Amino acid sequence: MSKICGNCGSKVDDKYHNCPTCGANLPYSSVSQQTIDKVSKTDYNYTETDLPKSRKVAALLALFTGILGIHNFYLGYYKKAMIQLILGIVTFGFSGIWGFLEGILIIFEVIKVDGKGRPLV
Ligand SMILES: [Zn+2]
Repeated sequence: MSKICGNCGSKVDDKYHNCPTCGANLPYSSVSQQTIDKVSKTDYNYTETDLPKSRKVAALLALFTGILGIHNFYLGYYKKAMIQLILGIVTFGFSGIWGFLEGILIIFEVIKVDGKGRPLV
C-alpha cells in the first residue's frame, strides 16, 4: 500500500512518516491510493455513455433506422456504422437490408454484445 503526499503529490510508501521528496508530515496530509481508486471508479460507473445497451432499443433502431447504421452508433460499432451510413446514402437506401438483417440477428441474440464486448441487457 502506498499513499500520496498531500504537499507535493508524489507517491510514498506507507513505511514513511515524512515525504522523502518534500519532507511533509504524511499522516496529516496524505490521501491513500485506495481512496483515490475508489473515487475514480465510482465516477466511471456513473458515466452515462457507459451504461449497458438495451437489446430492444438496438433491435428497433436496426429495423427502422438500420439504413443509416444508427443501431451500430448506439452499440458502439462506429466503423461499421459509418460504412452503413455512407452506403445508405450512395445506394439511396438499398443497403438498408443490411441493417434490417442485423436487427433480426440482434433479436435472436446472434449479435449479443456491444462494441466494447459487453452483453446487451
Ligand atoms: Zn511531498
